[in-house]
Amino acid sequence: MKVPLLDLKIQYQTIKNEILKVVEEIFENQSFILGPRVETLEKEIAAYCLSGYAVGVSSGSDALLVSLMAAGIGPGDIVITTPYTFFATAGSIARIGARPAFADIDPDTYNISPECLESLITRMTSEEQSRIKSVIPVHLYGQCADMDPILKIARKYNLFVIEDAAQAIGSEYKGRRAGSMGDVGCFSFFPSKNLGAFGDGGIVTTHSKDLYERLRILRAHGSQPKYHHLVIGGNFRLDALQAAVVSVKLRHLDEWTKARQRNASEYRKLFQKAGIERIIKLPKETEQRHIYNQFVIGVPERRDELHLFLKESGIGTEIYYPVPMHLQECFSYLNYQKGAFPASEYAALHTLALPVYPELSADQLAYVVEKIKAFYSEK
Ligand SMILES: *Cc1c(COP(=O)(O)O)cnc(C)c1O
Repeated sequence: MKVPLLDLKIQYQTIKNEILKVVEEIFENQSFILGPRVETLEKEIAAYCLSGYAVGVSSGSDALLVSLMAAGIGPGDIVITTPYTFFATAGSIARIGARPAFADIDPDTYNISPECLESLITRMTSEEQSRIKSVIPVHLYGQCADMDPILKIARKYNLFVIEDAAQAIGSEYKGRRAGSMGDVGCFSFFPSKNLGAFGDGGIVTTHSKDLYERLRILRAHGSQPKYHHLVIGGNFRLDALQAAVVSVKLRHLDEWTKARQRNASEYRKLFQKAGIERIIKLPKETEQRHIYNQFVIGVPERRDELHLFLKESGIGTEIYYPVPMHLQECFSYLNYQKGAFPASEYAALHTLALPVYPELSADQLAYVVEKIKAFYSEK
């Protein structure tokens, strides 16, 4: 049996007619950049995320970059985030000329630990503290970071809060949605995300009218009006085609999320039945709405061997992320040592993402668990 990590072709077959209709309209109109399709999507996403406004941008990475620009962050500033994330979170901080600083994760949720965040800040000199401008919590794998204490710390130190919600559209924390809690929320429409375009795309949400206007200007080279540049922005525009595709898919998102959640609870049952819930660690679900962008298990023993064994059995799994940010070669200038963030380093060595996409069949789920059980019985 084959169980790929993700199969977008099956999903496409279910929405093909809707997609082809809007795409053809755009081809007939030959109007490709921004425009009414993007404006419609912005309204839909703002409403879906329980936020005030949204600004469509070229990718999730650019959503982070343009948000940092809108906050006026640059050289000399410090921005705090987690070392256990996709590169873009830390990369965008460095690209804007600011210095990334890291706070370790909660080993159970893999999200930034509010305790580590606070202790990082209190250990800094007052000169350094005055340079911290922002914090970027990442809602990793589809579950929100513990936002209440994070927002409290941010208020205390006057930090601009950028939620990296690239993996978390529709995820909830105490009734609030990902992207609606900080100053801005950044989303990605990379094809493999829960709500993916047919190429690159992203969006920024905010409650602030002022930020909304700044983001819109920065997205188009800082021009307002056309050919008059008040600030230096960039080309961070979203295509009409991608916006139209995402609008169609958004109508199906809740039903896909339910299927991911059903698969996750099916995994829990199967692992329990197989009697290996003590060998592997199941993802911790807090009281929040987890949307399972990824179903990541903890694998204390022989992770890399299991990864290979499953591959040979026709099962696609992935290691997110094998090297934490503080140990990336490009960040060696930050002078972090191995051992600086034990929880992140442990997670990098002992986790594995299993297939959890909505269209998985009961047989496929059972096959994945059966193979993992077989691997540990052979030992
Ligand atoms: C995917 C992702 C991004 C970047 O999004 P792109 O659209 O690929 O640029 C940023 N942060 C996290 C946590 C992501 O998973």
